[in-house]
Amino acid sequence: MKFNAELDSIKTYEAGKPIELVVREFGIAPEDVVKLASNENPIGTSPAAKQVIIDHADKAHLYPDDSMFELKALLSERFDVPEESIIIGAGSDQVLEFISRAKLNATSTVLMSQVTFAMYEIYARQVGAEILRTPSYEHRVAEFLPMMAEHAPDVVYVCTPNNPTGDAIKHDDVIQIIEAADPETLVVIDGAYMEYAAAKDPEYQLEPKDLLSYPNVIYLGTFSKAYGLGGMRVGYGIANPEIIRALYKMRPPFNISSLSLAAAIAASQDTAFVSESIALHQKQIGRYEAFAKEQDLRYIESYTNFITYLFDAPHDATQIADTLLHQGVIVRNLASYGLNAIRITIGTAEQNDRLFSVLTEVLQ
Ligand SMILES: *Cc1c(COP(=O)(O)O)cnc(C)c1O
Repeated sequence: MKFNAELDSIKTYEAGKPIELVVREFGIAPEDVVKLASNENPIGTSPAAKQVIIDHADKAHLYPDDSMFELKALLSERFDVPEESIIIGAGSDQVLEFISRAKLNATSTVLMSQVTFAMYEIYARQVGAEILRTPSYEHRVAEFLPMMAEHAPDVVYVCTPNNPTGDAIKHDDVIQIIEAADPETLVVIDGAYMEYAAAKDPEYQLEPKDLLSYPNVIYLGTFSKAYGLGGMRVGYGIANPEIIRALYKMRPPFNISSLSLAAAIAASQDTAFVSESIALHQKQIGRYEAFAKEQDLRYIESYTNFITYLFDAPHDATQIADTLLHQGVIVRNLASYGLNAIRITIGTAEQNDRLFSVLTEVLQ
């Protein structure tokens, strides 16, 4: 059967390997598997959010509040932005999809970093847009600016901090990109890991409120990382109301489930859980830097909840990731991004102990 020609150039998104796969293929007990591959919150989900998920079981027959009034009110308060500047998606992924369908077509171009979140390319290709990339794997303003001037792309994706590398762009440099953009270029600021960057160094923090004065910028955030709700699929976009109104035309009804909505409302109010997540992270990431120095490995300074180790021959990322997998430790191999590197989500102290012990063996 023939499908749209655009599909020929799309590589299906490869998610981090699930625990079930390691159990099935290598016969390892589920409790012995350490999953550090998808940047999930290692301490789980806010207890308050868990409780409302249970409490909502008897409302499963009802559609959720499609206005998402309460969640929007909480986001509006947290970010000090008006409610008409907010759209909720099934993950910020869904907002990315709305952006592609609302703004791009087969005559469009998009610009992104050489190594960045894979879904930008997939959503852009789905609608036939042409992909342009900066030359190096780091997010460099000096590489974005000349390409923006030359191509005036329809969308520029600025992932800060960036996945899968972990580096970030300073607030002032992001503003420089925004101010250099053509008025018809939509600048997408993906802040999926902003809570970690803000805690590490305020110079890298972006406040959606500060971006609202630009009519061509959208900020994306998610409940999947610091807020511990990856399985619930809730994210949001914050922009000028004109952009939000356009994106709303792409939105299916009831686009997040009532459980997800309730969980996000509870998680929004449980700031203690978020602080605890960040505090654990800050303590544990130092161990990854120390380990890299001990083992003479290069790493990218991280502003996220993961760290990227770069290997030099004869070390081979694919081989290392496979050997770790056979031992029940799941990390992300970045070979498909053109890097001899692995990305490791910072886990709990115990999970990290296990990673260090197995990786030390593998590197010998
Ligand atoms: C995790 C992530 C997202 C959003 O994920 P959702 O679970 O769909 O909200 C968006 N961008 C980047 C760069 C991410 O790493």
